Amino acid sequence: MSRPRILIVGAGISGLALAKALLDRGLPADVVERRSHDSQALGAGLYLPANAVRALRSIGVGDEIAELAAPVGRQRLLDHRGRRLAAFDVARIWGEVGPCLAITRGELHQVLRNAVYDATVRHDTAVTEVGQDGKVTFADGATRAYDLVVGADGINSAVRRTHFGGPEPRFLGQVCWRFIADDTTIPGITDWTARLGDRGRTFLTVQLGDGRVYCYADVNSASPTAPEGDWRTLFADFAGPVPRLLEQGEQAHFAALRESGNTVWTRPGVALIGDAAHTFSPSMAQGGAMAIEDAVVLADSLGTTADVSAALAAFQIRRGERVAWVVSQNHRRDKARNLPTFLRDFTLRRAGERMFKANHAPLHTLP
Ligand SMILES: Cc1cc2nc3c(=O)[nH]c(=O)nc-3n(C[C@H](O)[C@H](O)[C@H](O)COP(=O)(O)OP(=O)(O)OC[C@H]3O[C@@H](n4cnc5c(N)ncnc54)[C@H](O)[C@@H]3O)c2cc1C
Repeated sequence: MSRPRILIVGAGISGLALAKALLDRGLPADVVERRSHDSQALGAGLYLPANAVRALRSIGVGDEIAELAAPVGRQRLLDHRGRRLAAFDVARIWGEVGPCLAITRGELHQVLRNAVYDATVRHDTAVTEVGQDGKVTFADGATRAYDLVVGADGINSAVRRTHFGGPEPRFLGQVCWRFIADDTTIPGITDWTARLGDRGRTFLTVQLGDGRVYCYADVNSASPTAPEGDWRTLFADFAGPVPRLLEQGEQAHFAALRESGNTVWTRPGVALIGDAAHTFSPSMAQGGAMAIEDAVVLADSLGTTADVSAALAAFQIRRGERVAWVVSQNHRRDKARNLPTFLRDFTLRRAGERMFKANHAPLHTLP
């Protein structure tokens, strides 16, 4: 049988990882991306837990990633004044799954883009609709048919909206800011450290190497819009390096955190992967990992059978339970962070490492 004609909508983490994984199996795909070639990847840094790094290794980009990324061996949880609540040796906990890393989004995108050779990605090309007959409509009005269309087009996926319908992602009651700071003159920033305040406030620092640190701050909010005034005043009572890092956070990226409720990711000839399929809280930093794992599993399913329908059915079965686990663990973690402060601190001091291990245990197995 001839190779299926495959369209990947979106050249983000999941779309590019899928394009590479398919190329490895002799299945080249068309990739379209609505943004221009030289636009920067949105966002700042990414923490890549060991299962994400393993999935990147499996598509042959592990060495390039490891060269650019910084290793994360430990995670520390402190209160907002800097007092220790818990610390985990993540390298030991993940064991043979491999190292955890931190990288900028721009660098991760660049490695993935290079891996699929720029020529296969068509930029400035948006998909506006995937009809019930599977026909794809582009923003310039052109239409085309494929054997398989994969929506890798993120949280506001046009493929999901127009072909699958279902609920729009719901606001999770938290808003966040992200930026990369220069920490060459700020001592004591290592690995991954989250400082927890009241009202669900978190200030996270993740060492990126080369004098750069990824800063992420979030807070509970009744509204998905940015609060009035300078956001940095919300974290003014945080101690340690936070005040000096905040001085560099004026241009931080703002986002409202959302979760999607759709659990059907395949229809005949159409599939969703990454954030288009499942968006959830970044509490476990598993969004990128699940996106890359989706790509690997979908390519694997398509590589083992020439029957696209059978491959899609296998993909849905292999991914459903694992993603549902991550969503449920995010819910538990988000609930724990909103406990009264003394109870949250007591729980983390007593059971933090046990909880961390339990959250991640099923993710040690291959997807
Ligand atoms: C605040 C925050 C922090 C996070 N931190 C982490 C972390 O530390 N570690 C981690 O692993 N994950 C993290 N995540 C999750 C992670 O960022 C996402 O899960 C991941 O980026 C999803 O990748 P994706 O390729 O599916 O979607 P995206 O990265 O959104 O890519 C979608 C692509 O599709 C393109 N596109 C959209 N619509 C169309 C269209 N109609 N036609 C053509 N192209 C289109 C977009 O321009 C984009 O390039 C975080 C998420 C948030 C919100």
